[in-house]
Amino acid sequence: MTATIEPDVQSPEGPQPSFDSINPATGDVVGTHPIDDKAQVDAAVAAAREASRWWQELGFDGRKEYLLQWRSVLTRRLQQLADLMHREGGKPHGDAMLEAGLAIDHIAWAAKHAGKILGRQKVGPGLLMSNQAAYVEYHPLGVVGVIGPWNYPVFTPVGSIAYSLAAGNTVVFKPSEYTPGVGRFLVDTFTEVVHGRPVLNLVTGLGETGNHLCTAEVDKIAFTGSSATGKKVMAACAERLTPVVIEAGGKDSLIVDEDADLKDAAEAALWAGMSNAGQTCIGTERVYVHERVFDPFMAELLKQAEGIRPGYDDGGVYGPSTMPKQLPIIRSHIEDAIAKGGKAVLGGLDSVGDQYVQPTIITHVPEDSLAVTEETFGPTLVVNPVRDMEEAVELTNATKYGLAGAFFGKKNAMSVASRVRSGMTSINSVISFAAIPGLPFGGVGDSGFGRIHGPDGLREFTYSKAITRQRMKAPLMLQSLKRDGTTESRFQQLLTVMHGGSATLPKLPKRR
Ligand code: NAD
Repeated sequence: MTATIEPDVQSPEGPQPSFDSINPATGDVVGTHPIDDKAQVDAAVAAAREASRWWQELGFDGRKEYLLQWRSVLTRRLQQLADLMHREGGKPHGDAMLEAGLAIDHIAWAAKHAGKILGRQKVGPGLLMSNQAAYVEYHPLGVVGVIGPWNYPVFTPVGSIAYSLAAGNTVVFKPSEYTPGVGRFLVDTFTEVVHGRPVLNLVTGLGETGNHLCTAEVDKIAFTGSSATGKKVMAACAERLTPVVIEAGGKDSLIVDEDADLKDAAEAALWAGMSNAGQTCIGTERVYVHERVFDPFMAELLKQAEGIRPGYDDGGVYGPSTMPKQLPIIRSHIEDAIAKGGKAVLGGLDSVGDQYVQPTIITHVPEDSLAVTEETFGPTLVVNPVRDMEEAVELTNATKYGLAGAFFGKKNAMSVASRVRSGMTSINSVISFAAIPGLPFGGVGDSGFGRIHGPDGLREFTYSKAITRQRMKAPLMLQSLKRDGTTESRFQQLLTVMHGGSATLPKLPKRR
């Protein structure tokens, strides 16, 4: 069956143009949503600005109560939310529940930790300013615009929404045009909890609505989506000098060392590569395996891959590709890899159908192939042997992306993990960092910048404010036009005591 499953834009006959969200498995309309124009986006931002005062005055404790109520409402309605995610995005119900469950845990963490992390903290003033008390506190920015993707329509935007709200901002959220119903569910449940106050607001539409949000009077944009759109978002935000967080695509690798548990590594590679139809920013797309264990690893991987299949029924371990326009890209990556000499050991040229992509594994793929250099976003794995861990790190890092990754093995674990140029690495498991709310989440290079989650994710939606309070008159009055030569020479003596000790230069290695 070939279903028209791109969001369906209606002709503007009624008072406002609208679009349908479509079930990618059945082609059924899941919901109809307005395409908000500039005036509507501006109105949502103005409403959020209006609610900002009330939300800020609640303080950390007051906001915590509302956020914890929201996570309880979401937990009680988890089945309903997961069902909507299943219908709108096509992912299995169990995957949807897992995703929403992790987002709920993040809401609770942000709510409970914001006060401690962002509240006023004392800072040591140092010897030169020992007459001062010094403090730092983190203030909310005001209104944050959150632009979300469809592949994790709850987990991803909640990483920005919950942390922004806990820090004291109000939010205008523009969900993906593929999952607007899920976005509406999040906003409606929160609005119910705050008795209708416009603290978390929804705007819906296509890319143009997202652009209106970027140029509106917001104080920050938190964008999650492709690197290409991220660049457009940044350019649009530059007009008003609006700061941005960019959470973009990836090309993560999973590295298997010679002392790895091969069964565990194969199970992890399959799940991180195939689940959610490979549409995971932090999913595995490349696997580098120590040449000494390449053959047994491949045997294990293919054994475990036996019988896995996509589908919308209970037996499907992943769903259809949510975005039909991705299908030719996945096909072109498979074709290019095989044309350049890669060996398809599972699936191949005919893996890509009208809706579903069959699990595909290709080995010995040249490093200049599209399947190695570009984000594929399909249930495909490239598996290549490497001489040693040096080569694994070198190849992993030879990408414009730098989002996450995994390592399986023992003795080289910490050293390899910290040498991989990416924002997150898990050792002997995959994607675990995303489920630990205290850890920062984000990438480098084309994967973006800025962080959500953890203390860094809370501070991302604030500005730091430094305050000093003079406790007593300074023994050395430096900030005065009446400063004399005696003060200056005492300052110099003090500086010599503090910093003038004999310093030995570090020895350089001998030249050979
Ligand atoms: P996308 O870039 O097509 O769209 C993302 C959002 O941006 C959508 O809401 C879209 O309407 C909006 N948008 C489109 N054009 C815009 C414009 N000119 N101005 C403002 N907004 C605009 O991405 P997608 O297809 O929804 O998501 C998939 C991509 O997201 C993949 O590359 C994936 O790796 C990435 N992703 C990254 C993370 C992360 O945390 N790093 C998480 C999930 C997804």
